[in-house]
Amino acid sequence: MRIVILGAGVIGITTAYELTRSGQHQITVIDQAEDVATEASAVNAAMIAAGHAFAWASPKVPAILLKSIYRDDQAFRIRLRFDYQFWKWTALFLKQCNENDAVRNTIAKHGLCSYSQKRLNRIVAENQLEYQQITKGLLYLHRRPEEFRKGIEHSKILQDRGQNLSVLNADEVVDLEPAFGPVRDKFAGAIYCPTDESGNSQLFTREIAKICQIRKVEFRLSEKVISLTTHGSRISHVKTSKANIDADLFVVSLGAHSPLILKPAGIDLPIYPVKGYSTTLTVTEDHEPPAVGTVDEHNLVAFTPVGNALRVTSTAEFAGYDRSHKLKDFQPMLRAVQDLLPNGAAYDHPVYHTCFRPMTPRGTPFIGFTKYENLFVNSGQGHMGWTMACGSARIASDLIAGQTPEIDDSPFRVQ
Ligand SMILES: Cc1cc2nc3c(=O)[nH]c(=O)nc-3n(C[C@H](O)[C@H](O)[C@H](O)COP(=O)(O)OP(=O)(O)OC[C@H]3O[C@@H](n4cnc5c(N)ncnc54)[C@H](O)[C@@H]3O)c2cc1C
Repeated sequence: MRIVILGAGVIGITTAYELTRSGQHQITVIDQAEDVATEASAVNAAMIAAGHAFAWASPKVPAILLKSIYRDDQAFRIRLRFDYQFWKWTALFLKQCNENDAVRNTIAKHGLCSYSQKRLNRIVAENQLEYQQITKGLLYLHRRPEEFRKGIEHSKILQDRGQNLSVLNADEVVDLEPAFGPVRDKFAGAIYCPTDESGNSQLFTREIAKICQIRKVEFRLSEKVISLTTHGSRISHVKTSKANIDADLFVVSLGAHSPLILKPAGIDLPIYPVKGYSTTLTVTEDHEPPAVGTVDEHNLVAFTPVGNALRVTSTAEFAGYDRSHKLKDFQPMLRAVQDLLPNGAAYDHPVYHTCFRPMTPRGTPFIGFTKYENLFVNSGQGHMGWTMACGSARIASDLIAGQTPEIDDSPFRVQ
């Protein structure tokens, strides 16, 4: 079968990789960027975090969103504007902000994250990949005792699903992560997930792309997808900045940009671009960086050692496709990390990025066929796309092959 994959982020590339396994397909990947993994897949927090697979939509979130409208220093930020996609998405999101849906969505997310981590480890072992992987777990750090107590309560939902999580007091946190020794009195404790891990998703994606190339996948880079052309119940071709390309099957994995191509073809999926801020700080031998990735749960800032650098990410901003940023957008997150790791990295030379999380209201992606018989979507992995990538890709390739996926795919169906 001739398959065209739109998007060369971690989702598109892992999907291409899984589809090469059968040796039966002629696969082309199209991306507007000059290289693979240049967007969200390049600068995320690097965490493989099944131990943190909670749905964003929960009963406490509407109040947080409301506050974010008039406060500028919040991790959640809304820029009020006339934007039909945003209001529609928000209405669907708010509908999920109840206890039952929060639990159901968390269970579905966690199932996919756990499965995906197994697939990731399998792919890494099969190919002996080096991608700055750290397998020492992740820390979910709580500064305030009351928030810590709630965090412990909240984590029971994942523990009930078999997730290995342990509660550490401040001394135990320092035993595990000596870099926090000098600031031991600044936090109450942490929830530690020993099986969570981290790794450079851009490096991983590029290594996988090299394997795809060896397996004869064609890469059409620096080529923008303009539209899908429909013909009855099928997509006849994709129009790009350079050509009209036909295929037996089209897979859409354009991250937060997927709806821009799907909607004109009549497929209105609620995937919203939720802007995140990411900075990469240099670490030299004079610094005392952490050994494991951590989420500062009070400030909602994640920081992870990635090679000779410290990646710091934060903020969920609802502002459409506006990628702009100011220096002051990064200051609260950098202050939070510097407060915990005063000598963790070179704070005076950050490299700044913004990128979009392709968020769905439920937090689960869309993986499946659409109303067009030869159009498949694998997109909307939101704030956990690196964690979910290898599992999503395997589910996609199983469905395309007409096989039943190893985990229940019903929460991810497009219809
Ligand atoms: C700040 C931040 C921190 C994060 N931290 C984590 C984390 O720690 N762990 C985790 O699991 N996940 C994390 N994520 C989420 C994760 O990075 C994303 O879910 C994932 O990278 C999405 O991958 P993707 O391939 O769908 O999209 P992308 O990586 O955005 O790729 C989409 C591709 O589509 C291409 N494209 C778009 N439009 C067009 C067009 N018209 N024509 C051609 N090409 C096009 C782009 O060039 C891009 O290459 C984070 C995200 C952010 C923003």
